[in-house]
Amino acid sequence: VVAFTRVEAATQGLVRHPWSFAAALVVVVGACRVPVAGSLERFEYERPAMGTLFRVLLYAPDRTRADAAAEAAFGRVADLDAELSDFDSQSELSRLSALSSLHAPTEPVRVGEDLWRVLAAAQAWSEHTDGAFDVTVGPFVRLWRQARTAGELPDAERIEAARRSVGWRFVELDPAARTVRLLARDMRLDLGGIAKGDALDEALATLRAHGVERALVIGGGDMASSGPPPGRAGWRVEIEALGNERPEPASLELAHAALATSGDTYRHLDLDGVRYSHIVDPRTGIGLTEPIQVSVLATGSRYGPGSGASGATADAMATAISVMGVERGLELASRLGVEARIVVLEHGQPRARTTPGFARRYVER
Ligand code: ADP
Ligand code: MG
Repeated sequence: VVAFTRVEAATQGLVRHPWSFAAALVVVVGACRVPVAGSLERFEYERPAMGTLFRVLLYAPDRTRADAAAEAAFGRVADLDAELSDFDSQSELSRLSALSSLHAPTEPVRVGEDLWRVLAAAQAWSEHTDGAFDVTVGPFVRLWRQARTAGELPDAERIEAARRSVGWRFVELDPAARTVRLLARDMRLDLGGIAKGDALDEALATLRAHGVERALVIGGGDMASSGPPPGRAGWRVEIEALGNERPEPASLELAHAALATSGDTYRHLDLDGVRYSHIVDPRTGIGLTEPIQVSVLATGSRYGPGSGASGATADAMATAISVMGVERGLELASRLGVEARIVVLEHGQPRARTTPGFARRYVER
């Protein structure tokens, strides 16, 4: 019998930080610290990045190697944050967006490998989701951020004005030249629905380059893993219940896979009794108003050309399915071969719907 200890009830520390935008958080449970075969030891690290807390759990032969690997992984995440952030006006992403305020269409701009990879994946997801996933929603997201600060809804006129700058087909990619053209004025690209997942993938790749093959990387409520802890089938993880800071009484084992959860447990705007999510329906420009929590489990990178590895896939899909809702969301998940669990409130009670594969793996403790 293998003994388990809860490593951390992740919710507390996180949500109190002003920079934390974590959605539904996931609590991680792992094997306890017993000596393991091949004398691998377990190490844990955490570092703020991308507006949330990143954590790395890994197995390594000794602390020196573990520290070096974790440091490199956090470095990679910090670099991605600097390139892909829409908060930082000097990021490569923001500088690209800013070109469209001068004139549109912009000239073709050659972008770095990271921005290219994430934009290409984002566009693939827009295509797959019929525009439910759309990284051009920046102008809408900005209105909602302002609304949250001001405590009042954005007026219809401003939503209409923003709409002219939103549309995934306004991003034109030329794979041969690795250039991007923005076709509308005043566009604001926002990779908030996919960059964290990509960062998880890249952090795992960095760990692997440092010889670490068994790791779990967590960013807010999203996580991705390489190999499982020694002697285990996977990293045991839990999903936090919708509208409730307690984990659900079930868990799943994660190995060579990613799990992302979208749900506006913490980041939302309450006005006149309506809760507006930070996820925006690109067709309406309005933050989602139906409480919904979507977890997506993705394995490998078999989701079509350019759609990214499993972390990016899970992250983007969780956001997209939140917009698409239960029926279309489940249909999309099975069409693309990912597992999904969607929780909505019915008469105030959470009701979960899952793909069969998710149900099989998500079992009561
Ligand atoms: P979290 O960042 O809390 O894990 P998500 O992964 O669901 O949540 O991403 C939400 C973020 O994605 C928003 O804060 C915004 O930056 C961006 N976003 C909002 N609506 C959309 C959309 N329809 N498609 C793509 N990205 C979106
Ligand atoms: Mg997402």
